Amino acid sequence: MNEMRYDWLSDRWVIFAPNRLMRPDDYDRSPRCEQDSSSHCPFCSGSEHETPDPTLILPDSDTDATTSNRAVDLQRLRKKSWLVRVVPNKFPAVHASVPFDDSPSSESRNPDSLTQHQEHTPSELFQKRQTQGAHEVIIESPDHISSITGLTPQHAVLVFEAYRKRLNHWRAHSNMRYAVVFKNYGADAGASLIHSHSQLICTDFVPNDVQRIENRMAQYHRTHQRCYVCDVLEQEIQSGQRVVSESEHFVAICPFASRFPFSVSILPRRHRSMYEACSDDEIQDLSRMAQLVLLALEQEHPRAAYNYVIQSCSFESASPESFHWRLKIIPRMCKVAGFEWGSDCFINTVTPEEAALSMRKRCHPASTPRAPVGSFSMPHSALHSNSSGSQFRICSGNPSAPSQPTAAPHPETSPHASPSGPVSRWQSRE
Ligand SMILES: [Zn+2]
Ligand SMILES: [Zn+2]
Repeated sequence: MNEMRYDWLSDRWVIFAPNRLMRPDDYDRSPRCEQDSSSHCPFCSGSEHETPDPTLILPDSDTDATTSNRAVDLQRLRKKSWLVRVVPNKFPAVHASVPFDDSPSSESRNPDSLTQHQEHTPSELFQKRQTQGAHEVIIESPDHISSITGLTPQHAVLVFEAYRKRLNHWRAHSNMRYAVVFKNYGADAGASLIHSHSQLICTDFVPNDVQRIENRMAQYHRTHQRCYVCDVLEQEIQSGQRVVSESEHFVAICPFASRFPFSVSILPRRHRSMYEACSDDEIQDLSRMAQLVLLALEQEHPRAAYNYVIQSCSFESASPESFHWRLKIIPRMCKVAGFEWGSDCFINTVTPEEAALSMRKRCHPASTPRAPVGSFSMPHSALHSNSSGSQFRICSGNPSAPSQPTAAPHPETSPHASPSGPVSRWQSRE
């Protein structure tokens, strides 16, 4: 178990996990992608013994492989044995207290678990409690690639399928209260390993910011008898000025009051509270949309780190009908600086309208100012094929790697590395 401490003034809990200092770090001395870790990478094919036993492997034997070419899938499966692998984190932020596998938990969900371990001092100035949960790593490829945009579309679907399976597992089999799927891409976004991966953290409490968002959506629902996000989405689609891309099931927008330049939210058109309730069609559509938008971001700002987060409804929400899940992409091109730390009020140097226009042009180069619904294809110029036929993009510095895609020149090797134009304003807050 980990210890949590409560900051009464900010109404915020902090998890302490000193064990995470021990985890390996590809980014110790070098900027993102300069250091080639492929010679010893615990996530690469052949290093499976360096990670805990998997909780999920995809495609599994009865998976329909999600690709139109079953023969290609089977050939790849025989060669690599897996395409996506989920393992418990060796250096967890929270420690597991329930089984990672699919067997039913012996512990029933306990709504009072938050208070069970709470220790109050007489004055309640120094509250702390023990916390338990789970921390998993979704290894997105057996190949040493740096980004999910380097996967074939069929392969990327498996990553989003893994999210769905593991979120469903934790929602159904534990005494947990909340789970979040997230990706840290690049050192500035908190990544410690280059090999493309994402993570899932499950907790036995609902973090306060999450609870606050749920409360706000519930409040809007009570007042208007409608969903806040559905209402926003309707207006955004009508206006189009902050729309980045649209598909059958999803709309990507730059949020009206985003705190960070080039933030994008991918919102399901259909009102749903849980990501893990997505249909197969929706998962495939989301995967294509996420790859499209992330590739556009990587092309627009090749040096940028980013996080993405899937915000699904907490497990025991008092008002699940009012919650609308979303995938948030948060580029980390600016450091959080003194004013933000001092005020919790953020200064964004790029308007969401400017950002949406740039991103829209990247996603749909031939389109008019507004992207048409369903115009949804990955720019093939940004993908390269390796000798085994799978498409990937890899960091420079690896002599066996192919050259960088022309559509996304590496900042360290491009003669035009310095960002130019109006959007370069994100570089500095000074
Ligand atoms: Zn690797
Ligand atoms: Zn809604």
